[in-house]
Amino acid sequence: MTTVLDRESIKQKYAAERAKRLRPEGNEQYQRLSGKFQDMAADPHTPFVPRDPVTDHVTFAFIGAGMSGLVTGARLKEAGIESVRLIDKAGGVGGTWYWNRYPGVRCDTAAMIYLPLLEETGYMPSEKYVRGPEILAHCERIAKHYGLYDKALFHTEIDSVEWQEDARVWRITTNRGDDFTAKYLGMGTGPLHVAKLPGIPGIENFKGKQFHTSRWDYDYTGGDALGAPMDKLKDKRVAVIGTGATGVQCIPQMAKTTGHLFVFQRTPSSVDVRGNHPIDPDWFGRIAKAGWQKRWMDNFVDNMGRGLPSEDLIDDGWTAISRRIREKVLDGRPMWAAKLATRVAGALGRPLRQVSPDKVHAAIEDADIEKTEEIRARVDSVVKDPETAAHLKAWYSQLCKRPCFSDEYLDAFNLPNTTLVDTDGKGVERITETGLMVGGKHYEVDCIVYASGFEFGANFQMKTGFDIKGRNGELLSEYWADGLRTLHGLHVPGFPNAFMVQMNQAANMVSNIPHNIVDHAATVAQVIAHAEREDYAEVEPTEEAVSKWVDLILTGGGSLMASADCTPGFWNNEGQGWSKEFRQSQGHPGGAEGYFGHIDAWRRSGTYSGLVFSK
Ligand code: NDP
Repeated sequence: MTTVLDRESIKQKYAAERAKRLRPEGNEQYQRLSGKFQDMAADPHTPFVPRDPVTDHVTFAFIGAGMSGLVTGARLKEAGIESVRLIDKAGGVGGTWYWNRYPGVRCDTAAMIYLPLLEETGYMPSEKYVRGPEILAHCERIAKHYGLYDKALFHTEIDSVEWQEDARVWRITTNRGDDFTAKYLGMGTGPLHVAKLPGIPGIENFKGKQFHTSRWDYDYTGGDALGAPMDKLKDKRVAVIGTGATGVQCIPQMAKTTGHLFVFQRTPSSVDVRGNHPIDPDWFGRIAKAGWQKRWMDNFVDNMGRGLPSEDLIDDGWTAISRRIREKVLDGRPMWAAKLATRVAGALGRPLRQVSPDKVHAAIEDADIEKTEEIRARVDSVVKDPETAAHLKAWYSQLCKRPCFSDEYLDAFNLPNTTLVDTDGKGVERITETGLMVGGKHYEVDCIVYASGFEFGANFQMKTGFDIKGRNGELLSEYWADGLRTLHGLHVPGFPNAFMVQMNQAANMVSNIPHNIVDHAATVAQVIAHAEREDYAEVEPTEEAVSKWVDLILTGGGSLMASADCTPGFWNNEGQGWSKEFRQSQGHPGGAEGYFGHIDAWRRSGTYSGLVFSK
């Protein structure tokens, strides 16, 4: 039954639910797949193949063979840089899509903009939102298309990366005995690649089977990532801990075959309509004209931004959020009327009527409450047991946590073999040798699956597992000890010829992460092509340019998505508030459109301001 609450009551409920979940340990509550959990980190997907160490020189070494490495590698090859080496601890390319092969794995961002280099590789996605295996296959396609397998080193972990002042190269050593040099270094280790386990007391004592979703054990469960039934779970009692984007995808698949599935929930996800559909080749043929993918990516940014986009090509749950806000700001005036008014004001040289910040704030709040009420009502309409339905409702603003989209998740709780164990925001109390304790009750299980996510708040060295030694032996973790310092999120002083392909201090939380990558790759390729053409030995940003850029980042008011008032989660530093370091890791204050606009003009200017090239 839907409970209709007024705005104030809803806000009070949000605050009360947040308070229940807040933990003083913040990010420290989690533990990693290391030490006593080291075995859980092993790669279940690809057998380890012995090889001889490499001791050569390459033009460009890129750490990480996920989308960052692949797209940057591709653009470098297009720019004529042939000697490119990808290095990854995984047994192949794909990054997050290599590791995450759990049942039901799929991307929530439309494939037309999520899969990079579709035009270049001539690939048409099969569906609006494609499955993980299709994304992994696309990553492999990029690697093949651009010859990125040739020099790649897989199942290889970095031991050290050091700038050699005399030779003006990077020296890289690995756990496979490799010791090679590279003129340029790229880093694309991903924001969410270090799997974490919940810090539940007793977790190490469990005697049954346990694994993290990013290390799915199909030998144990049967089935596959494409949806083959996990028939080996037929007679098993299985617990899943975690109901974030991963849990929402794997739980319905597990519920289909598991003897009994217990879903341990700390915070419910907001689960909106998915609305997936196959891509029609005729339609694709009509739209896929030269330059289409950039147009689509840009259109997504426009629709997520502050302007008045004339069309919404992507039309998904993300753009719907912005559209709703925009409509409220426009007071129901149609978009064309607002655009016309803008154009007329521009032509007449008149100032535009500014929308007050209060009005924008109210529009955001109204749109959000409308949407979250819709999502809560959806739970009631799908989940038959009212108590279960009540527990599955998310009481926080939609952008406090990663919004989820599924047409299967809620329905899974109607199955007789699926039990929701809500922990009322407290989490699982204890793990025993045979099961889990919540509210004083013991749940005996054969297997625990941890859909408990990835490290996000950790510092650079903790995330990567290695450090980088730049000029004069300075460590990157030292240089960043008080917060990230970059030019454009990409270049770091004291670390010549190095490029950080990541989203902080760049476009940041644009929900289409590959757009960040495609954009950085364009910059890297242009800068390196310039350096090679002009025969420069080094390129490095100035401290002055970096300070200016960091100051600009700090002017940002932060993002709706990471408000400290939100229910805790990795998006908002587990509700611990915004330290300067955290604020410094945000994106451009103008949002993704602000960043992409700035950087595009920077690239087109050809002046490379802020960078110094030396012979
Ligand atoms: P999350 O960090 O989002 O979720 C972890 C889950 O584990 C949360 O439900 C969390 O609860 C729960 N948890 C942690 N500790 C405990 C505990 N002690 N007891 C009970 N529950 C606990 O990780 P995900 O892997 O789900 O998602 C990470 C990110 O990966 C997403 O935000 C998204 O960016 C990406 N992703 C994208 C997908 C897509 O496109 N479809 C699919 C999967 C992932 P609580 O919320 O209370 O902290």
